Amino acid sequence: MDPTPILDVQNLQVRYPRFTLGPVSCVIRPGEMVALLGANAAGKTTFLRAITGRLPKHEGRALIAGRELRTAPPAWRSKVGFAGESPLADPVLRVREWLDFLADIHPGWRRDDAADLLVRLGLDAAAKIGTLSRGTLVKLAFICAEAYRPALLVLDEPTNGLDPVVRQDFVMVLRERFAGTADRALLFSSHLLEDVEALCDRALLIRDGQLVGEVGGDQLREARAAGRLTALVADVLGAPPSR
Ligand code: ATP
Repeated sequence: MDPTPILDVQNLQVRYPRFTLGPVSCVIRPGEMVALLGANAAGKTTFLRAITGRLPKHEGRALIAGRELRTAPPAWRSKVGFAGESPLADPVLRVREWLDFLADIHPGWRRDDAADLLVRLGLDAAAKIGTLSRGTLVKLAFICAEAYRPALLVLDEPTNGLDPVVRQDFVMVLRERFAGTADRALLFSSHLLEDVEALCDRALLIRDGQLVGEVGGDQLREARAAGRLTALVADVLGAPPSR
């Protein structure tokens, strides 16, 4: 029998005054690395925030490891990690102090893992958070979401703001941690087709608040080799994402 999906979304809808997401349905299973691709304002962040319980309300269902975050006990939230552009941290704290705080509130926090990631991503534990560059904040947000090893790690444009060398290294870190895992999954949004192609098993394509298609990782890699990656995605999305 199939294992319980890590993410099970059915008829999810979010209504803003001038934008509606959905109804959207999709499933992500353990071991998958899935990209979410779409033009600006297509609804990627809204979708990622809804499924990680960051919006006050949505219609439909968004189950994380079989349970709706809204009604699950608070500890269920540790099944999912979310990183956007920057960590929700007090800027006067030092990196080490913020990570120590998170270690105290997350039962599954791994101090050794957080310490390894700091070194691997070149962060200074003694630096004040308010002094960090945008790219460094992106890396810190990732560490904060990953160090408790959530079943589903959700990253909103994780390589945005990283220089090309760091970006490549960051993609490698994600591959090392997620490729071939049997019990976790990665979902990330990106405009960078190279990252998508390097990381994902499949990409979900979103346009005007609707999931309009899906492309397999092999299909993406073949298209890249043939120099028609942008065209492939543009075909489904109706507009080319920026590279
Ligand atoms: P981008 O690639 O530019 O980051 P996106 O695909 O992540 O875009 P969203 O940020 O989800 O898109 O925004 C989708 C639409 O929802 C946009 O039109 C945006 O203005 C609108 N929107 C987002 N958040 C809110 C909000 N809190 N209240 C009202 N409208 C919102």
